[in-house]
Amino acid sequence: MEFKIAVLAGDYIGPEVMAEAIKVLEAVGEKFNHTFHFNEALIGGAAWDEYREHLPKQTLDICENSDAILLGAVGGPVSEQLKPKWLNVSTNALLPLRKRFDLFANLRPAKLFPALASACPLKKEIAERGFDILVVRELTGGIYFGEPRGRDGSGDEERAVDTMVYSRREIKRVAHVAFKAAQVRRKKVTSIDKANVLTSSILWREVVEEVARDYPDVACDSMFVDNATMQLVRDPAQFDVILAGNMFGDIISDEAVGITGSLGMGASASLGEGTFGLYEPSGGSAPDIAGKGIANPLAQILSGGMMLKYSLSMEKESNAIEKAVEKVLNGGKVRTPDIGGSSTTREVGDAIVEAL
Ligand code: NAD
Repeated sequence: MEFKIAVLAGDYIGPEVMAEAIKVLEAVGEKFNHTFHFNEALIGGAAWDEYREHLPKQTLDICENSDAILLGAVGGPVSEQLKPKWLNVSTNALLPLRKRFDLFANLRPAKLFPALASACPLKKEIAERGFDILVVRELTGGIYFGEPRGRDGSGDEERAVDTMVYSRREIKRVAHVAFKAAQVRRKKVTSIDKANVLTSSILWREVVEEVARDYPDVACDSMFVDNATMQLVRDPAQFDVILAGNMFGDIISDEAVGITGSLGMGASASLGEGTFGLYEPSGGSAPDIAGKGIANPLAQILSGGMMLKYSLSMEKESNAIEKAVEKVLNGGKVRTPDIGGSSTTREVGDAIVEAL
C-alpha cells in the first residue's frame, strides 16, 4: 500500500528525532511491503525564517494532501519567548492545526516499561508494580478556546477573562473515543472533572455517565482532578484509560508521562472523526540539548507507531515498532542520557531498526 505523510519536523531537537522516526518507518515499509511518501514542510520558528509565519499556507496544503501528519516540536528557548520568531509560536502553529482538522481527541499513552523502572521518579515499590495508562484529552474545546476571553478595565479594576465551556456534543464524541479505547485495553475509564465546583464539569460528568451506558463491558468512575493528580503518584496502576477535558487533560497527561521517567518517552496521537490524525511527542523542542545528538528519539518513533495504528490501520506494523522499542530497552545497552544511558539519538534509531 502507498501512503502520503506530511512531515513537520519543526525546531531544535525536532529534526534530530524526526530523522530517526523516518528511518524506522522506512524499515517498517521495507519489512511489510508498504511505501510511505514523506512530504516535508516547515512549521514554527523554521517556518518563520522563511515565511514570517508559524503555520504557512504551503504547510497546510501539504497536510491537507496527506493521510496523516507526523510532527516534531515547535518553539525556541524559554528565555527568548518574546522575540518575534518565537512569540506565541505554539498558539500560532499547533492550535490552528488541531482546529483546522478538528482533532478533538488527544491520546497519550504513559507506560512504564519494566526495563525503565529505575528511571521512574516514584518509590521503588510503586515503580516495580508498573503502570500502563492511556490519557484521552479533549483537545479543541474547554477553557483554551472558550469565548469570551480577553482583558478589560484599568488600574485595580483591570480584569482578565477565560471561559470554560463545553457542549454536550463535544463531551460525547471524546467520551466515545475513551470508551472504545478501553474496550481493547483493561476495560476501565476514569473520568476527571471538578463537578463539586464547576458547572461545565457537572455537564461533563452527566454526559460521560450517559455514554458509559453504551459500553456495559467497560467500568466507569469519576474522580475530582485534585484527587486524580495525587492518586497518579500514589498508585498509578489503578488507572487504565483516563478521560479529561482540555486543561485538566493537559496537566494530567504531562504528569502521567513524567512518572514514566522522561518526556522523551511520551508519544501522542490527535484524532478527529475519521482516520486522519496528527502524531507528535509529548515534549517540546528541548533547546537545552539540541545539536548535541543526545535527544531521546523514542517518543517520536512511538508516535510514528501510533500513526500506523490509528491513521493507516496497520496494527501489526505498529506492534512491531513497540516490540522493537521494548527489545532495545530490555537489552539495557542502548539508551540516551535522559533514561540513564550514554547512547546518541542516531544509535538508538539504528538499534530500533536492527531490532525490527
Ligand atoms: P521541553 O519539553 O522542550 O523540555 C523540557 C525538558 O525535557 C528539557 O530538559 C529537555 O531537555 C527534556 N526533553 C524534552 N524532550 C526530550 C527528549 N526527546 N529527549 C531528552 N530530553 C528531552 O519543554 P520546555 O523546555 O519548557 O520548552 C522548550 C520549547 O518547547 C518552548 O519553546 C516550548 O514552548 C516548546 N514546547 C513545544 C511543544 C510542542 O511542540 N508540542 C510542547 C511543549 C513545549
